[in-house]
Amino acid sequence: MKKNPPLTRSQNMARIKSKNTKPEIYIRKLLYKMGYRYRVNYSQLPGTPDIFILKYNTAIFVNGCFWHRHKDCKIATFPKTNTEYWEKKFRRNVERDIEVSETLFEMNISVITIWECEINRMRKNEEYKEKYLRVLRDRIERVFNYEEEDISVQMEIAEEGMQYK
Ligand SMILES: [Zn+2]
Repeated sequence: MKKNPPLTRSQNMARIKSKNTKPEIYIRKLLYKMGYRYRVNYSQLPGTPDIFILKYNTAIFVNGCFWHRHKDCKIATFPKTNTEYWEKKFRRNVERDIEVSETLFEMNISVITIWECEINRMRKNEEYKEKYLRVLRDRIERVFNYEEEDISVQMEIAEEGMQYK
């Protein structure tokens, strides 16, 4: 069987964590409009958060669903060939994400992951966008007064928010 051409380390890193990708810019602009000021690609912290809001000690990662294996997401498809190769690669990515989050948590830095598919949906659905941004603001400001709403972001973010309690 033909092997998948392995990516070089730098290619791989570029694909996992490309700088200034469009979804990142989209969310940055929104955060800026919401009044937040931040550093981008903040290499002084583990994992080089895409966005770091100093005032709220909050690191934001804008993750591609495929490379970072967004759970139950249709973008996170699994390649049909060389499954062992991909499984290993994906596992490393996920493990690294968990490690980085844990290290940041230990530093009392709040970690927020924004997924590519959530950004896609925000672009298409104004109502979702409004809700998402409201929850995001609560997360950043560490406000935990969730109302039950039939919206996945609310659930995901609420679950992650529990970690601070
Ligand atoms: Zn996704």
